[in-house]
Amino acid sequence: MSSIFSKIAQGEIPCYKVAEDDRYFAFLDINPIAKGHTLVIPKKEVDYLFDVDAQTLSGLWLFAQKVAKAQQAALPCKRIGVAVLGLEVPHAHIHLIPLNSEADVDFKKPKLELEKEEFAAIAESIRARHTA
Ligand code: AMP
Repeated sequence: MSSIFSKIAQGEIPCYKVAEDDRYFAFLDINPIAKGHTLVIPKKEVDYLFDVDAQTLSGLWLFAQKVAKAQQAALPCKRIGVAVLGLEVPHAHIHLIPLNSEADVDFKKPKLELEKEEFAAIAESIRARHTA
């Protein structure tokens, strides 16, 4: 059975897509802790990030780098922070979080509640600045 993130990458479950190539996929986290909070995944389904084979894992970080540059250009933030949790969804992923302060990377604080239109506008703004 496919993970929820595989279904997202295959277009079976809707998402706010940020970037895609043949091996990787990026989309907005639906419960963001900051505006533009993005998840990047390998399309190959592996539960734990550090079990991903070395070639796929290094490619994932290069893919994440391009997404982070697009986020930085699209959103007012000092840095793009990185987090790996994997406690909820058993499909390896990296959180890319626009940061202005340490508080922006607190996963325990209440999640942002954004309208669909705002999610769509943020995704479009990042997508427009992403270079393949
Ligand atoms: P974790 O596995 O602990 O890194 O957490 C999984 C993350 O995936 C959480 O931040 C969720 O908000 C996010 N998430 C779960 N389902 C979806 C979905 N359908 N679309 C976008 N983000 C999701």
